Amino acid sequence: MVRVGVLAVQGDFTEHSHALERVGIEAVEIRLPEQLSDVDGLIIPGGESTTIVQLIDIYKFRDSLKVKADDGFPIWGTCAGMIVMASELIDKRPEPLKLMDIIVNRNAFGRQVDSFEADIKVDGMADGPFRAVFIRAPIVVKVGVNVEIISKIDNGNVVAVRQGNLLATAFHPELTDDSRMHLLFAKMIEDST
Ligand code: GLN
Repeated sequence: MVRVGVLAVQGDFTEHSHALERVGIEAVEIRLPEQLSDVDGLIIPGGESTTIVQLIDIYKFRDSLKVKADDGFPIWGTCAGMIVMASELIDKRPEPLKLMDIIVNRNAFGRQVDSFEADIKVDGMADGPFRAVFIRAPIVVKVGVNVEIISKIDNGNVVAVRQGNLLATAFHPELTDDSRMHLLFAKMIEDST
């Protein structure tokens, strides 16, 4: 059984832990880089990406996450977590960790549709559409050759991508009671070990 770390510096990490535990996956809240060696993969949650990146640097996660990501350690970023994992942002801030070969636009849906829900199809996910919750969500505007687009919404915006051991979603699967995205990540971890 896999043990999944949830980066617990800011944002909705508790909801991720609950979503994992609901389907019997052990969740470990990660507050220091040393703890990364105790888990098989890591979720970077939604929240405020500028604050998350600031805390990542204060607690000295940046270098270890980059080394681990390059080394095949599974990491999944949701919403702000996707922003954190990007190689480049349209915004000047924050300075992303450059884990994945994606260019991301923060707050891509503007003020008038800050938040919305949509039924999306995710490649590799069985049993019908997934109800995705978007809250001041980013989108992926450009992907590198090794990046697989696994979900788009109706207007064509890319909202989920995978690059080997790395996964990023613009929406918040931890805010619904459908844990299929968490199971998909657990499967990625299992396949990588
Ligand atoms: N808009 C937020 C940011 O840029 C992300 C929102 C979220 O994680 N729900 O950090």
